[in-house]
Amino acid sequence: MSVEPAAPVQVPSALSPPAFHLLAKPSGSTCNIDCTYCFFLSKDALYPNDKQRMSEATLEAYIRQLLEAHRTPQVTVAWQGGEPTLMGLPFFARAVELVEKHRRPGQVVQQTFQTNGLLLDGAWCAFFKKHDFLVGLSVDGPRALHDAYRLDRRGQGTFDRVMDGWRHLRAHDVPFNVLCTVNAANQERGREVYRFFRDELSAQWIQFIPIVERATEETLAAANQGWGDRPGRGTRPLYTQTGGLVTERSVGGAQYGRFLVDVFEEWVRRDVGQVYVQLFDVTLEAHFGRHLLCIHAPTCGYGPALEHNGDLYTCDHFVEPGQELGNIHETPLVELVASPKLRRFGDDKRDRLTGQCQRCEVRFLCNGGCPKDRFATSADGEPGHNYMCAGLETFFQHTRPAMQVMANLLRNRKAPAEVMAWVAAEDARRDPYQPCPCGGGSKFKFCHGDRRA
Ligand code: SF4
Ligand code: SF4
Repeated sequence: MSVEPAAPVQVPSALSPPAFHLLAKPSGSTCNIDCTYCFFLSKDALYPNDKQRMSEATLEAYIRQLLEAHRTPQVTVAWQGGEPTLMGLPFFARAVELVEKHRRPGQVVQQTFQTNGLLLDGAWCAFFKKHDFLVGLSVDGPRALHDAYRLDRRGQGTFDRVMDGWRHLRAHDVPFNVLCTVNAANQERGREVYRFFRDELSAQWIQFIPIVERATEETLAAANQGWGDRPGRGTRPLYTQTGGLVTERSVGGAQYGRFLVDVFEEWVRRDVGQVYVQLFDVTLEAHFGRHLLCIHAPTCGYGPALEHNGDLYTCDHFVEPGQELGNIHETPLVELVASPKLRRFGDDKRDRLTGQCQRCEVRFLCNGGCPKDRFATSADGEPGHNYMCAGLETFFQHTRPAMQVMANLLRNRKAPAEVMAWVAAEDARRDPYQPCPCGGGSKFKFCHGDRRA
């Protein structure tokens, strides 16, 4: 049995952020399935000969330090993976007890839980409901699109088993958010994917995450094989955010924009105020100068990732050598989140923008996107530009008129859903073959003004 040092006592520092969004990985990178694009599976190389299970001592150190480090009444305890259900229910029952033990009077704690859904049953869902967990369920669309990459270790699709988990969530009335990756298989089918979530899964909260798996000339062939230790697969490289190539599963930059526009065109005509798509919400907020998502905020560095043994990294996307901040058993969490290394990491997002980004009309909405995706060359030939720039620009430009209408409605204390009447009037007025004012024109299958169902 390994003996871990006692957790240090921490003193909140004026330099530490009042709140942050830490992602904890109690089962490290271990998972019960083998999604081909999941490069996190390769992170087992960081902890060789380690079963990757968070101990009770680390769990308590984490919960206590997280609650102590927050100077806001709201605290999010976010569980992620790997696959967190592999820890078993008693682990999370203990987490709930520890939150109650260490919560300060007035602190309101929301626990969130990202899962592939395979192990969800009545007991899990009753527990989530009882303790007000918000569950994120990973689904990539209807069966054929979901099963393109979300496979088990035998290479079989997981769709039916995820749907069983979804049924348990529904039966227990657990609030859930669908987390859908946008990848090479579903990138041209935005509207179909969205309709599936809305109509078949009754999803009210939806999040889209682009799959961008970087590779070098040397790693590309192995990377295209996938990242898990499926039998027959050769040596897997440890995934790091390096290289200017992408795997064949990665979404194209322009395609990502078209996917989002496709979804937006459906949403803005009938679902505003009923279905919440994370990127649409944060884009509307950005029209007020508020950035709720690190990816499009001017700076980042408030979303560190905690490994099973207490190691803290700068970000969930940067769990790799050189990005460690320390271990919470040795250095208080409050000090780690205030560390110059993490602040530098977050400020680099703003300080390393390319000239093209600095001049960009939609910079106030985009801010250059996530640093992990900045491996392309800008129009000026400058390195470090966002690989998905074309798509991001398309999305932000295309949605701007409707976003501005919604922002004005909010300023006038009206419901943003009234934008749907504006869109209907625009549709009636506009020649459907007239190019969209966003400049995308006929590039879009469903550009604004195109009234094909
Ligand atoms: S690197 Fe990207 S995902 Fe990580 S905190 Fe910064 S913007 Fe967010
Ligand atoms: S749309 Fe492109 S140029 Fe504009 S801020 Fe985003 S990444 Fe930079």
